[in-house]
Amino acid sequence: MNIAIIGAGVSAAAAVSVLKQRGCQVSVFEKSRGPGGRMSSKRALAGSLDLGAQYFTARDVGFMAQVELWCSQGLAQIWSMQPWVSEHGVLSRSDDQQTRYIGTSTMHQMLVPAFGGVDIHYQCKINELSFITSNVSSHSHGQWQLCSEQGECYGGFDAVLLTCPPEQSFQLLIGAPICTQIPRQSLMPCWAVLLELATPTHVSMDAIFVKDGAASWITRQSTKPGRQSARLRDVPEAPEQWLLHFSADFSAQELEASAELITELAAAELVRVLGRTVDVAAALCHRWLYASYNPAIAPCGVLYDAKMQLAIAGDWTLGGRVENAWISGVTAAEQLLSAQHKSGPQR
Ligand SMILES: Cc1cc2nc3c(=O)[nH]c(=O)nc-3n(C[C@H](O)[C@H](O)[C@H](O)COP(=O)(O)OP(=O)(O)OC[C@H]3O[C@@H](n4cnc5c(N)ncnc54)[C@H](O)[C@@H]3O)c2cc1C
Repeated sequence: MNIAIIGAGVSAAAAVSVLKQRGCQVSVFEKSRGPGGRMSSKRALAGSLDLGAQYFTARDVGFMAQVELWCSQGLAQIWSMQPWVSEHGVLSRSDDQQTRYIGTSTMHQMLVPAFGGVDIHYQCKINELSFITSNVSSHSHGQWQLCSEQGECYGGFDAVLLTCPPEQSFQLLIGAPICTQIPRQSLMPCWAVLLELATPTHVSMDAIFVKDGAASWITRQSTKPGRQSARLRDVPEAPEQWLLHFSADFSAQELEASAELITELAAAELVRVLGRTVDVAAALCHRWLYASYNPAIAPCGVLYDAKMQLAIAGDWTLGGRVENAWISGVTAAEQLLSAQHKSGPQR
């Protein structure tokens, strides 16, 4: 079976792993310059920066086995930090016992092997999908064609798997029956800001869940293993880098604000939560239009149209987070394979 996958995030990596193992020919189309999607790390300021997913957890047995494999291969590791909580103006140590994992050096590192040996097209934004039907030996058979923003077309696919955020999947499938099942508002935005400080704060906290302000999460980036650049690793007073995520509500409210304003608000929020003055030397701001799952919306489950050999996966189909993204990719791949098994080889 010849399958096209749109997106190269966690859910796509999971699907590729299953499909490759079962001998399928897979082509991946990703609009960015590399893999990872919302889990990718960027090279920025003094090292590698996790602007999106901060860590991941594993509760499902299948995903736990996958995480153990990544850890044994040196691609992921436990992030042994004890978070703090800012609530009602008070900072206190959280007593949660959650095991949290991060990718080694970068968040997306562990996805790289999955995409090995696959026909992968980066900087290739798909903006048109067509299902072309033909009557071959008296039964109808369809094939998919994908066209990119740059005007290139790729055809001959027996099946397509979409792993984009819901709004982007919806736009690609307008008119298809499955489209009505996509909950378009299921991902909420997030402003992310990195602040590099000229002088150290001398606070001991590594990560803070913020429940009483505009931010939702604050972490000292350099406390994550492997994130600091080699240049700074041995510098005793290397600049502190604090990453701040604003809450979904605040981010939605300030969606069109300037990066300058968001950076100022982030610095003020850091001062408020840490209870220290900060001296910002450099900053970097990123707006995620689609970030975390909207808990007000019930997950729709992985979507699948057997007639069109079309599946839709992504964290949002199962309730958000890296773990659900992985499970959705595995589920979608298995659905596509089971349909192939029922109908026999198509070509
Ligand atoms: C700020 C932030 C913080 C987060 N924190 C956590 C956390 O702490 N723990 C946790 O578990 N999860 C967290 N998440 C969520 C986690 O990142 C996601 O659940 C997971 O990465 C989703 O993977 P995915 O493959 O489903 O989707 P994505 O990562 O969104 O992958 C979809 C891919 O499709 C590509 N794409 C979209 N449209 C097209 C197109 N037309 N053509 C080609 N390519 C296209 C995109 O570029 C993207 O690479 C966070 C996310 C954000 C943004």
